[in-house]
Amino acid sequence: MNPTLAPPAPAPHAQRVSNVQPSISCVVPAFNEAAGIAAFLTELCAHLATLSSRHEVIVVDDGSRDSTVLEVIAASGGLPVKLVALSRNFGKEAAISAGLDEAHGEVVVILDADFQHPFSTIGEFIRHWQQGYDMVYGVRADRRTDPMVRRFLSRSFYAIISRGASVEIPADAGDFRLMDQKVVAAIRDLPENSRFMKGLYNWVGFRSIGIPFEVAERAEGHSRFNFRRLFELAITGLTSFSSFPLRLWVGVGSLVSGISIFYALFIVTRTLISGADVPGWATLVVAVTFLGGVQLFSIGILGEYVARIFNEVKHRPNYLVAERHGFSRDDHRS
Ligand code: UDP
Ligand code: MG
Repeated sequence: MNPTLAPPAPAPHAQRVSNVQPSISCVVPAFNEAAGIAAFLTELCAHLATLSSRHEVIVVDDGSRDSTVLEVIAASGGLPVKLVALSRNFGKEAAISAGLDEAHGEVVVILDADFQHPFSTIGEFIRHWQQGYDMVYGVRADRRTDPMVRRFLSRSFYAIISRGASVEIPADAGDFRLMDQKVVAAIRDLPENSRFMKGLYNWVGFRSIGIPFEVAERAEGHSRFNFRRLFELAITGLTSFSSFPLRLWVGVGSLVSGISIFYALFIVTRTLISGADVPGWATLVVAVTFLGGVQLFSIGILGEYVARIFNEVKHRPNYLVAERHGFSRDDHRS
């Protein structure tokens, strides 16, 4: 089996009645996907129809600046497609939250709008759900489609977060996953505002299993995540799920203080033995600037956490909806 499949999955307690096809809600976040979204929806719906007669696709337009909304509305005629258009670009995490808030199928599948997540894996997800798993997540078999720098940074991120996170966040598992409705309900009820989904999926627990899939090349365009956005996401992830960055400075502080005590002892002894002398200027400047740097850096990290607290206490919603299409009157509205 693929070694990246962490954490080890507990065996499901009970098998579901496996000949029953679940109703499927697919959540698809889309940001500037006008070029490919129509073909995507047609193919996705055709595939879902082979899996279950009760299926729907909830597209969340994340404030696209192109004609994604129009394309989705045009494509949705005759297809079980609903659209939630956010009032601006809130980011993929918020878009997924918006989709989950509307997803009431027995199982909910999240997938990207760019054909990178193969439809054939959805069937495998459902088979595992039928065996009793509540969450089945896709694990990227490799990261060939990612640029080298991104691969390196993502590896570093998982190395850091795995040290201090209170829950295990498997590397190479993304948003492509199936969740039972009860998992979705649990995530929906989490009160926090800074939503680092990859952390939340694991925080809620439930019987989970990862299965490998091959990431396809993006069908059109390029990744909507640039370095700055990935960096912001990484900081959100680290500060929401790990206190390691804070603890690190306790360690560094103690080490520096320890060394300085020994250094002080050394200076005092030397002065007692050979009398006072003026040199030591360089040592002094180096010590002051080094410690100044360490202090500023650690204050910066404190600042990140304070900013996170500030964001939480403001209690602003994660996203605002500008328009909805395809929802009937009795659809639950949250
Ligand atoms: N996306 C989004 N909001 C954003 C950025 C991306 O909803 O601010 C969507 C995007 O339309 C796509 C999915 O998230 O359906 C994954 O984005 P992308 O393919 O650009 O990311 P990558 O595959 O490089 O992780
Ligand atoms: Mg993609």
